[in-house]
Amino acid sequence: MYKLRDIIGHKQNIHILMKAVSENKVGHAYLFTGPDGVGKNTTALAFARALLCEDPINGDSCNNCRHCRQVNKGNHPDLHEVIPTGAAIKLEQIHQLQKNIHYRSYQGGRQVYLIKKCDVLTAEAANSLLKTLEEPPGNAVFILISSRPYSLLPTILSRCQQFWFKPMSIQQIVQGLKRYSDVDDEKAEMIAAMAGGSLGRALALTGEDIKNSRKKVLEILEKIYSGSIIDLLQQSAELADNREMAVEWIDLIQLWLRDLLVWKQTGDRSLIINRDLVEELEKWSIRYNLHCLVDMMEEMERARSRLEARGNIRLVLDALFLSCRRRELDAG
Ligand SMILES: [Zn+2]
Repeated sequence: MYKLRDIIGHKQNIHILMKAVSENKVGHAYLFTGPDGVGKNTTALAFARALLCEDPINGDSCNNCRHCRQVNKGNHPDLHEVIPTGAAIKLEQIHQLQKNIHYRSYQGGRQVYLIKKCDVLTAEAANSLLKTLEEPPGNAVFILISSRPYSLLPTILSRCQQFWFKPMSIQQIVQGLKRYSDVDDEKAEMIAAMAGGSLGRALALTGEDIKNSRKKVLEILEKIYSGSIIDLLQQSAELADNREMAVEWIDLIQLWLRDLLVWKQTGDRSLIINRDLVEELEKWSIRYNLHCLVDMMEEMERARSRLEARGNIRLVLDALFLSCRRRELDAG
């Protein structure tokens, strides 16, 4: 568990949160939004500990008092976590929370409620929670967390102080990888570049995963380059199971195309992300001209926006692979 000041990135958010604690001007409801894996949950927990701490230092938890120790052990009686049961946060869970809240806090201080993935509140649950947010009992603080804030009721949004957690920089992700894993510098930089601003995703890419994903990227590109139309459609069917995963594959393919483009233009190894695969890059770069690479990257970008706009995954991928194939034929 981290103190607020030890959290990687998000300096402005952290500063505002610490100031609220140190000046004793804590709001009733906070909403942390931003992509997955950038530190929303870590920050929420660190903020909760600062809110419950007996003796906060400059608005940050002391990590020493009884309260801090209870939070660290996961058994602070006034820290409550609401997470989806199954696919949603249901009305009973909000009723339970409301029942809880009307008892005084166990230890006389604040009560903190972390509501994770709050975008999956059912409509009844959201409306019920709204009543509590409108008239919050004096000592309760709500921290709502979501990576899909556009799915929240506007009435809930307007009750909360909103904090946006932006994607992390490559440098911040490298820092995180060094803190939480034992990858060396070169690998950390490569993974950070592939992680799309998410430390969570970067950590998932450490270990063997990354070798396999890159192998798979090359398999997909090989099919686009020399496979049959049936191969391509089968590939698209295979990736169409899961929207987030499909977007991740597109990101990974795009990074490879980007490396090809940079390698073709500069031949400079230090500018390449997949530095350990230079020989492979060289082989592939002969296959494409610059124009074709740029076109394919644009196709990837278009497909990604369509997926993010909830377009039919299978159709988007079919169109993507077939149009990449056409770009190659046009170029060749
Ligand atoms: Zn403390």
